[in-house]
Amino acid sequence: MKEVTAGVDIGGTNTVFGLVDKTGDVIVEGNLITTDYPEIHDFTRALGSALRSMLKSNPDLKLIGTGIGAPNANYHKGTIELAPNLAWKGIVPLADLVKKEIDVPVVVTNDANAAAMGEMIFGGAKGMKEFIVLTLGTGLGSGIVINGQMVYGHTGHAGELGHTTIVPGGRVCGCGRRGCYETYASASGLVRTVLEMLSELRDPSVLRDIPPSQLTSKRIAEAAAEKDPIAVKAMDFTAEKIAFGIINAIAFSSPEAVFLFGGLAQAGEALFEPVRKYVDSMVMPIFRGTVKILPSNVPESNAAVLGAAALAWNEFGS
Ligand SMILES: [Zn+2]
Repeated sequence: MKEVTAGVDIGGTNTVFGLVDKTGDVIVEGNLITTDYPEIHDFTRALGSALRSMLKSNPDLKLIGTGIGAPNANYHKGTIELAPNLAWKGIVPLADLVKKEIDVPVVVTNDANAAAMGEMIFGGAKGMKEFIVLTLGTGLGSGIVINGQMVYGHTGHAGELGHTTIVPGGRVCGCGRRGCYETYASASGLVRTVLEMLSELRDPSVLRDIPPSQLTSKRIAEAAAEKDPIAVKAMDFTAEKIAFGIINAIAFSSPEAVFLFGGLAQAGEALFEPVRKYVDSMVMPIFRGTVKILPSNVPESNAAVLGAAALAWNEFGS
């Protein structure tokens, strides 16, 4: 029998899951439309039945545990708590409900912590004991590993670098406060920056022809690669803001590496080069040159499943 863990990533619209072996091979995978299940019990039943049928059609596999990445997930309690983008309100005892379906140990955390665990077990952070993963998507998530351990904190919700204040009194954030890191340093933050610059600056730009609702970080990065003046300024501004958050995190925990992951990180060197430049020029001298700023080394297409499966490998693997 080959041991596997189940990795489950619950997103606002889509849930992906798969069975993953110790080397990071995703042996079989599937998905559910999260919004088809407004009632949590129906969701966990559907998930349980899908996982059971995967195991049934692969009788040589032995499931040793389930790892789940989900918004606002609490590692200590195995719950999802007050997740604004999910239909399940209040406090959802997710780990207990999933364990009722498939009787193996279950570990739950948020998607950014799962991404960091994926990096540690299957990606570029193998062998590292001190590193940070920043997921630059619609928002900014972070997973912080210190001394080989994920930092969960007193409440289980540690690692909310996306909601550290980067510009006092700055942009309004979804959390109800202002100036949070993620309102600048994320794919949607970059779009906000471009929209501001388009209205405040007179530079010509191909981005002026795109309706604001259709503007994406991908399109902006392409325009920056073609030296579009607004796109270049917006990328540079965003890189500087990303760097601010990184130098604060470096002062706090002195990581060996910071991995950038997610939609905005796809911009590649157009983003990494200025981020490294700003980190180098602004970081405290004792840390200069000590921190690698790297792209994620977990395959993007499977990253969510691999991260969640890595959680279970880390927790329940031998
Ligand atoms: Zn916030």
